[in-house]
Amino acid sequence: MFNTEIFDKSNKNPSNIVPSKLSLDSNIKFRCHPGVSCFTACCGSIKIILTPFDILRLRKRLKLEADDFLLHFTAPTFLEKTDMPGVCLKLDPDGRCPFVTPVGCLIYSDRPSACRYYPIGMANFHEGAQENQIAEEFYFVVKEPHCKGHEEDKTWTIREWRADQGVDLCDEMNKGWMELVMRRKSFGLQATLSEQAKKMFFMATTDLDRFRSFIFNSSFLQIYELDPETLENIRTDDIALMKFSFQFLASSLFGTQGMKISEEKIAAKVEEHKKKQSEAEKRAEETYFELKQLRDQMQKDKKIS
Ligand code: SF4
Ligand code: SF4
Repeated sequence: MFNTEIFDKSNKNPSNIVPSKLSLDSNIKFRCHPGVSCFTACCGSIKIILTPFDILRLRKRLKLEADDFLLHFTAPTFLEKTDMPGVCLKLDPDGRCPFVTPVGCLIYSDRPSACRYYPIGMANFHEGAQENQIAEEFYFVVKEPHCKGHEEDKTWTIREWRADQGVDLCDEMNKGWMELVMRRKSFGLQATLSEQAKKMFFMATTDLDRFRSFIFNSSFLQIYELDPETLENIRTDDIALMKFSFQFLASSLFGTQGMKISEEKIAAKVEEHKKKQSEAEKRAEETYFELKQLRDQMQKDKKIS
């Protein structure tokens, strides 16, 4: 199952979830606007997980390099019930979002995914279904006591709400990342992920500048075969690079198909493996003969005495 809980802006108290499965055509009664008595009440005492797309959008809005943005506006965290490292928005000393003002959100058109989804959650169950197939998808409403938007006289469908909040684009951009997190979650913590793998995941999903530099300034391109179009896209287009990072991580962390490893590298790996194997066999043979000699000598010594 994966759901928007990964970057849920609510306090995750299950009793705040209205127990009804909703579809895109279900009606909800809700409106958030500067006139509500609770205006910006939900912009504090929260944990807002940032997706790679959120980070990209926010740092562009703030005209910051990825590392500057990460340093000043985020705090490290683990992504929902996994050991996968990510970041959340760093709140100010009063526990408020750094972008909230008395008149609203300073970066409203580039606000994070969590702020857009609220108060509608989405769940996708795909247990028992083929990979990439969704068996069941539904929506639910989060109704927290402090949120007065539910008392407003505005009814619309979830589809209309999502379009208004720009959620469809977020879903499309976050999909590959969410799948990585949920794949990890489904493996459970007994399946270990190396420290190196975690570092790679963190770098590729939070700092596209460093990930790009890693691709073009390491042996990456000697190992993976990329067609010229992909190469050009990831060199010049951040969104293409972000999507490529999801594909690369799925392949390197979970062994999915999609990345072509150079034939030369595969042959070199096979050769290396064979060499290691024949060295091990040689060592085993030497040990055997040493032991045999020792035993023969012991028998000889026994006969003499
Ligand atoms: S980013 Fe904007 S909408 Fe989201 S918590 Fe901060 S101020 Fe509120
Ligand atoms: S109505 Fe709800 S979402 Fe809007 S500001 Fe108030 S608490 Fe936040």
